[in-house]
Amino acid sequence: MEKYKKRSWAEPYKIKVVEPIKMTTRTEREKALMEAGYNTFLLKSEDVYIDLLTDSGTNAMSDNQWAGMMLGDEAYAGSKNYYHLEENVQKYYGYKYLVPTHQGRGAENIISKILIKPGMFVPGNMYFTTTRLHQELAGGTFVDVIIDEAHDPVNLHPFKGNVDIDKFDALVKKVGADKIPYITIGVTVNMAGGQPVSMANLREVRSYCEKHGVRVVFDATRAVENAYFIKVREKGYEKKSIAEILHEMCSYSDACTMSGKKDCLVNIGGFLALNERDVFEEARNMVVVYEGLHTYGGLAGRDMEAMARGIEESVQWDHIRARIGQVEYVGEKLSALGIPIVVPVGGHAVFLDAKAFLPHLKQIEFPAQTLAAELYLESGIRSMERGIVSAGRSKETGDHYYPKLELVRLTFPRRVYTQAHCDVTVEAVDEVFDRRKSIKGLKMVYEPKYLRFFQARFEKL
Ligand SMILES: *Cc1c(COP(=O)(O)O)cnc(C)c1O
Repeated sequence: MEKYKKRSWAEPYKIKVVEPIKMTTRTEREKALMEAGYNTFLLKSEDVYIDLLTDSGTNAMSDNQWAGMMLGDEAYAGSKNYYHLEENVQKYYGYKYLVPTHQGRGAENIISKILIKPGMFVPGNMYFTTTRLHQELAGGTFVDVIIDEAHDPVNLHPFKGNVDIDKFDALVKKVGADKIPYITIGVTVNMAGGQPVSMANLREVRSYCEKHGVRVVFDATRAVENAYFIKVREKGYEKKSIAEILHEMCSYSDACTMSGKKDCLVNIGGFLALNERDVFEEARNMVVVYEGLHTYGGLAGRDMEAMARGIEESVQWDHIRARIGQVEYVGEKLSALGIPIVVPVGGHAVFLDAKAFLPHLKQIEFPAQTLAAELYLESGIRSMERGIVSAGRSKETGDHYYPKLELVRLTFPRRVYTQAHCDVTVEAVDEVFDRRKSIKGLKMVYEPKYLRFFQARFEKL
């Protein structure tokens, strides 16, 4: 047995349908990049070799999910797929009521409109782009209450997504609990690098909130990935199943918003799930205005069926171990080459530390945007900026937010790429690293008003 101690695991699936991808020439990529204004969001997917832009909606569905697609009950009202989805949300996430939405931000819009009144404050463990925007559009002010360790890319804290109760308490004391409709807890925290929150922290936040009458709303987009980290890192959870851990996590919240495009293993879909009857009634009413009838919420019956089945598959140990194992594999290889990344590696992505990678660039020369562009130029691999461009501008002062972290995200779609794709990715990053000193920054030449990172354009300095 000794001999097999370090035996590798392989992807727990075999490939039934293939989608060809093609390598472009450097000249083609130079042209594509210029046309895209050095913004990887504006590249054509056809011009991309390995697409690590996002894990959102890029999942490969199983044969079981595809079979479910054919069983779509495309009724306007009361589709049987809605009831299947409701059953699985109740079973695996544990909430009483379900409101389907076309994707995560649809759920964020509804919950923000219902619970936030102008002048209120919404604390959260680091912001997420669409979540914060909906909170602000509803008249709220977001307040970051994540632990300091989350802002330090080399701090090895196992649960860097944890809420700092002292920061939260300071806000409650300052503005009063009646001005705080809820705290948003991202499990895991996307913008911190896919970092998890511990069960102990969730329990502590819950008891604090009960005392002060503040609701807890999860951004449950990657809650299954969070459950994986609790299982492998938190004492007392080693023997629990992912499903049991997920259920316990959600029991410490009142509601969740969900982007099914991540954990639920589908290409489109989301939901709002809640326990309070009156808030549910209002949400069910509002979904009709913004998404569609409350039994489809902007989704086809087949989409709801795929999501219902995806939820079941997402909590299987073989799946989640291989999914996060792939991300950890790339992280370990990059670290071994001395390439600066956020550690510990999170659940859905490896984040390159662009400030450390390109220390000669000022933050206003967009180091992460630059690095993402250079990686594409080098290899045809598409990544995403998560730095000053994503952070946007302050509502009050109009100035850029200057986030501490300037990151490039290599995000792994679930069940899409093999270990060989991972190896090619590591080699490409290493090649850019070798010529890092000669890399020049960018200047922004077009800036949209909302969520600027999606459409901003740049030129080389
Ligand atoms: C993707 C995402 C959202 C928004 O969901 P969409 O489905 O893209 O609308 C919200 N929160 C987190 C953490 C996400 O990753």
